Amino acid sequence: MKNKFFLLLLFIAFVANPLKIVSQSQPKSDAYVLLISFDGFRWDYLDRGITPNLDKLIKKGVRAESFRPAFPSKTFPNHLSIISGMYPENHGIILNKFENPYTGEVYRLSDRKEVSNPEWYLGEPFWTTADRNGIKTASFFWPASSMKGKWHHPDIFKRYDKSVNYESRVDTIAAWLQMPHKDRPHFYTLYYSLTDTYGHRYGPESKEVNYAIARLDTVTGYLIKRLKEINMFDSLNIIIVSDHGMTDISPERVINIENILKGYKVKYQSSGPVMMISTHSEDDVVYNVLKKNETHFKVYKKSEMPDYYFFDSNPFISDIILVADLGWSLVDNRSIKSFVGKDAMKGNHGYDKDALDMHGIFIAEGPAFKSGFRTGTIWNIDVYPLLCKIFNISPRSNIDGKIERIDFILR
Ligand code: AMP
Ligand code: ZN
Ligand code: ZN
Repeated sequence: MKNKFFLLLLFIAFVANPLKIVSQSQPKSDAYVLLISFDGFRWDYLDRGITPNLDKLIKKGVRAESFRPAFPSKTFPNHLSIISGMYPENHGIILNKFENPYTGEVYRLSDRKEVSNPEWYLGEPFWTTADRNGIKTASFFWPASSMKGKWHHPDIFKRYDKSVNYESRVDTIAAWLQMPHKDRPHFYTLYYSLTDTYGHRYGPESKEVNYAIARLDTVTGYLIKRLKEINMFDSLNIIIVSDHGMTDISPERVINIENILKGYKVKYQSSGPVMMISTHSEDDVVYNVLKKNETHFKVYKKSEMPDYYFFDSNPFISDIILVADLGWSLVDNRSIKSFVGKDAMKGNHGYDKDALDMHGIFIAEGPAFKSGFRTGTIWNIDVYPLLCKIFNISPRSNIDGKIERIDFILR
């Protein structure tokens, strides 16, 4: 009898308690979050005095001094880091374009079929975590939001089309926010590319980039107006981020790696701030040649890539990785035309995650966030656990992000 009583106590302690924990972590279904990405919006664009609407949100909410991307500071790797809380080596999208060396298949952001193929993705996007917890989600663009398979995409999503008018994207979000309660999503994403496009074409200091900054600010003003009209401004948490910043590049600062490696049979992947080289050879001949010519870039064997980059554990990363110094570009004969001549880019990104020019913005406003709160640099891998905390659900345990690094911005 005594034994039975003891067993009952054990049952209560170890079995019943977790049940209680489960019931405590029922999602707060009343939370609403809109996550907006301004592609390539550098951290200091907010200080140019041309963003009155963003300034209003900052005054009411939180602004981080800067938002640290993951390396390489490219669009797809970083949107996946934001939405899954993982470094690119762990979520699988290591570059905007890369090859699976075992099958020859290539992932590239312009290839709809591959971008929608869930086999490339190793992380769990927030919309999947939300779905498992009974929270509906919707996306007016986000890299990987059109992944195939019921579990992999938001409940509502759009096929990427950069020509869709910016205000009409806002109107659609407003319409979704007015859906009947039982169907209404609580998590939304929005995406705009203009600051990135003009940053590449004209450079981050150009008047055209100032136009793009002002344009995105105007769209933000329109969003605030629409949210007020539908009576959702006070209940919606708005988080505005960017995937990376932008820095000036120049044809004077271009290194043709193919000239250095004349006569060696190698394969080049990516160009500009980062290049990967496969040698298909066990010896260090190619590495040694590059090492002798290591000016304005760093050369690493995959096996000795500093931990700090979090860029060595993925099987699709090549044996040699080159990282250009800020503002320098690494090219081969095929990619050189984007960096020299009449079509040369004037701005680029992809460099070291600690170069301040690569940092983006982080603004958060709404009932979950502190008001009038300014803080230092926030890391983009911490947004996924932040979203989980706002919705009171458990994040995946295998992420790189940490809630303790970011939860001080919450009310
Ligand atoms: P990057 O080469 O890193 O500057 O990539 C920026 C480009 O990514 C922009 O020109 C966008 O048009 C493109 N992009 C952004 N989101 C998506 C998407 N969901 N699908 C395809 N392309 C996208
Ligand atoms: Zn980008
Ligand atoms: Zn870009």
